[in-house]
Amino acid sequence: MKMPENDKQSLSMVTCTAPVNIAVIKYWGKRDEDLILPINSSLSVTLHQDQLKTTTTIACSRNFQQDRIWLNGKEEDISNSRLQSCLQEIRRVSRKRRNSGDSTSDVSSVSHKVHICSVNNFPTAAGLASSASGYACLVYTLSQLFGVESEQLSAVARQGSGSACRSLYGGFVQWKLGEQLDGKDSLAEQVESESYWPELRILILVVSAEQKSVGSTSGMHTSVETSQLLKVAYTFDAGPNAVIYTLQDHLPEFVQVVRHFFPPEVNGEEFVKGLPVCSADLSEELKRDINMEPTPKAIRYIISTKAGPGPCVVKDPNHHLLGADGLPKKSAISD
Ligand code: ADP
Repeated sequence: MKMPENDKQSLSMVTCTAPVNIAVIKYWGKRDEDLILPINSSLSVTLHQDQLKTTTTIACSRNFQQDRIWLNGKEEDISNSRLQSCLQEIRRVSRKRRNSGDSTSDVSSVSHKVHICSVNNFPTAAGLASSASGYACLVYTLSQLFGVESEQLSAVARQGSGSACRSLYGGFVQWKLGEQLDGKDSLAEQVESESYWPELRILILVVSAEQKSVGSTSGMHTSVETSQLLKVAYTFDAGPNAVIYTLQDHLPEFVQVVRHFFPPEVNGEEFVKGLPVCSADLSEELKRDINMEPTPKAIRYIISTKAGPGPCVVKDPNHHLLGADGLPKKSAISD
């Protein structure tokens, strides 16, 4: 939301949230590394922001000397090429709109520097798709600040992180491969809304919340270079954490299987986070069929969630992560 108060002349501020998405038909590998164009189309489910989300506040002011970004309370290098691609591209699109007289909002701010403050409420760079929600949130928040239409955001977010273009929509989302060399037709679109399949539940089995030893980009690069089975294989993902899609009715039994074979620490953190799961008994027959020795503590916790909506604007100014001075509030640093 735009900052009203006395600072209106010099400081505009917007806060938005954006969701994580997890693909069921994966995007893996790029045909163009700079434009982030995939070698296949993909299909994902957007997860509910009640469980996993990025929150980003962006302020712009003619008084700011340079673009700056704070991620999870720490200032990061704004010269990161992907951040730069998103910033340059959204400013270009906004200027184009202004020059063609299309824009209805105040876009004078597009020439001002920005301060960006973002937090993920889940582990970053651990294989839980923070790059998707992070870049989607960045681009969506910039679009609110600079008055850019939502149809134009897919191509911008994609240049931050490929899968970020899918996090711009709720529910079930397709990212079309596209054919053009400039990538103009490589866009995400909603296939069905989040209410399409209400019984669907999604569980993330968190094996490790540590930063991945191989980042998604280099993992994809190695796969494209070395895998002869890249189109046929479906057994890899960008991190160690398994994502399970199942129906609500099967949830209690499945979680009980996980509890039984991967027993959590007795006094450890809460094992199932997010949407509550009822308890269930495991039949001896099922235990026998699985026929596996329990591996204690192999799964740290489970995030239980469902399909959810796309990015939202946060209306309450108390939730801005930046203060009226354009610097991170203390709460955004200690989070
Ligand atoms: P993940 O599996 O979490 O997507 P990646 O290694 O693919 O891991 O991407 C993590 C990177 O995405 C971070 O190092 C950072 O550059 C970027 N990122 C994550 N969260 C945000 C955010 N909230 N805002 C901007 N960039 C983010």
